[in-house]
Amino acid sequence: MDSIQDIWAEIMAVLAKNLTETSIKTWFTDCSPVELEDGKLVLHTPKPFKRDIIQQRFSKNIKEVLKELFSCEFEVVVLSDEELEEYREQRREEKTLPEMDGYTFENFIVGNSNKFAHAAALGVVKKPGNRAYNPLFIYGNSGLGKTHLLLAIGSAIHENDPGAKIIYVKGDEFLNDIVQALKEGTMQEFRQKYRFADLFLVDDIQFIAGKERSQEEFFHTFNNIYEAGHQIVLTSDRPPIDMTLLDDRLRTRFEGGLMADVQPPDKETRMAIIRDKAGHLGMVLSDEVVQYIAEQITSNVRQIEGVVKKLTASHEISGEKINKASVDKAIADVIRTGVYIPTPDDIIEETSHYYQISAEDIKGQRRSKNIAAARHISIYLIRTLTNLSFADIGSYYGNRDHATVMNSCKKIEKAMVNDSAIAATIRDITSNLNSRQR
Ligand code: ADP
Ligand code: MG
Repeated sequence: MDSIQDIWAEIMAVLAKNLTETSIKTWFTDCSPVELEDGKLVLHTPKPFKRDIIQQRFSKNIKEVLKELFSCEFEVVVLSDEELEEYREQRREEKTLPEMDGYTFENFIVGNSNKFAHAAALGVVKKPGNRAYNPLFIYGNSGLGKTHLLLAIGSAIHENDPGAKIIYVKGDEFLNDIVQALKEGTMQEFRQKYRFADLFLVDDIQFIAGKERSQEEFFHTFNNIYEAGHQIVLTSDRPPIDMTLLDDRLRTRFEGGLMADVQPPDKETRMAIIRDKAGHLGMVLSDEVVQYIAEQITSNVRQIEGVVKKLTASHEISGEKINKASVDKAIADVIRTGVYIPTPDDIIEETSHYYQISAEDIKGQRRSKNIAAARHISIYLIRTLTNLSFADIGSYYGNRDHATVMNSCKKIEKAMVNDSAIAATIRDITSNLNSRQR
């Protein structure tokens, strides 16, 4: 009972019990629902005089049914043909996604590393809600185009169907929203906000893992949208199986659609991206420079973009010639101001400082409480700061296996929820790591 059509049918069924057949026929045959959101039901009927009658005589009854259904107050607005046109126009303007025209399929460069995810995204645009792609779960490391694809889907669907209700939300924003709604007792409004989405885009869903109440709420939102046959697209920095504290019901849902990963682009693709980004900035780079950048930056498109922007800016500001030396300079600038990724050894060392024990002990087999805690925390930090796989991480710890490493991460993720000292330790070590980089 979730699509607006179902709700309208329900309303009509209740009205039919209280009104004569003639009156239903006269007033409602050409009346249809347009939108239900933010506590407002919008209806359309072609003629202004019918609009007035529905508004004056029946909106009270309609409101009562809505209150029954959703236990909150709704406003009912009826629009004639002309008003509907105006309303749609206005909604079109309101519904612009963040930087929607910046992230499109046209400016997404396809290569081996992302062609599956790209094809899946196009599949969604072609047939939103198709069970084969619902939900679409796009995962991969930072800076590889997940958000780009997500917004490209939003932008293309908006173009095909300007009336579609598209909701884009970041995982952590969704969390904040829930916490806020719980605090202020506005859960009803919260649910209204999300449940009628035709397209629900959630960026960086990994933030939801471990937060029980939020997972519960997300589960309901997910089901509402999914059961209504509407499309859900999620991105994450890791696949569901690696989201250790994810509720099993959610994991099953996430894995029940299509999962597509994005990998770092190969050199050819990196070169194509560099040319394309430069082109958008009105720059033509020599083949030598393009190739050189592609060789220097291999794992993050965001950094590639940063370097091209930097080069363009210094060329425009000081007329600097672009050669290998200026590329080196731009890279140094971008990498320094960009996100610093510490090595596993850095992390182990920093953790050993913090706990005042040796790195050998952290990596070794001793199980005293302090050493075990430091071991779990360093493993957790490597997992969250470097994007290495569990197996890779195990190799730094005397070849501990995938499951052992995963257990350490789980332990810390759980502990962080209840134990503020652990959370503070994590924060401190992270900040020590960052400052030692400067
Ligand atoms: P993620 O969400 O995976 O961290 P983003 O989607 O934010 O990464 O991408 C980072 C930057 O790199 C964005 O500016 C995006 O436009 C660009 N980018 C990533 N992949 C591609 C690609 N295949 N073609 C063009 N630009 C890309
Ligand atoms: Mg992103």
